[in-house]
Amino acid sequence: MIPDSPRYNIENLKIDEIIFTQGFVPSCNIKICKGECCNLGVYLDLEFRDKILNYSDVIIKVMNDAQVKDVKLWFDGEIIEDTDFTSGLAIGTNLYKTPKGYEQCVFKDLNNFCSLQIAAEEIGLHKWDLKPTFCILYPLTIDHSVLTYDDDHSSTLSYCGKTKFENFTQTVYNALKEEISYVFGDNALDYLNKYLKNKQQ
Ligand code: SF4
Repeated sequence: MIPDSPRYNIENLKIDEIIFTQGFVPSCNIKICKGECCNLGVYLDLEFRDKILNYSDVIIKVMNDAQVKDVKLWFDGEIIEDTDFTSGLAIGTNLYKTPKGYEQCVFKDLNNFCSLQIAAEEIGLHKWDLKPTFCILYPLTIDHSVLTYDDDHSSTLSYCGKTKFENFTQTVYNALKEEISYVFGDNALDYLNKYLKNKQQ
């Protein structure tokens, strides 16, 4: 079973310096963006799927009426090989259609919150213990062992997206320090700060 945190060793990754320069909004703000980044679902480690399924009772309990309660419909069933996932295997979350006809991740509720995060908080786990790594890290991602900015997905987003310069107040690196520490461990920020300093010398 995948440990809750840290999930990756940052020293095993290359660092794309775009993470220190790409602009980002003051913080994720569901009231403004309506969780737009969740509309396509996410790929997660196959072992993490099993962890989520272990908590299906509490996840179903916190879901809205419109959400899919049949656990067999939560994941797309197509297992792919990808070494950016700890087990080397990944699977995607399915989408469902809301009463207003929008498609979104099965775990995104009608208030635009993630049922996995709500469920974790409900039972006293860390808020991200049931959340897929690439949801926590977004708009950062790991691509072919490089920690980088997910510009493909970001280019479609209307609030925090890569061209929404008017909304930027900080870099993604500064915005995501809590997330980076959670996914890569407490020493990750020191490691990245030293990395940046060395590059600037
Ligand atoms: S699992 Fe949660 S955070 Fe990730 S895409 Fe789905 S609703 Fe969003």
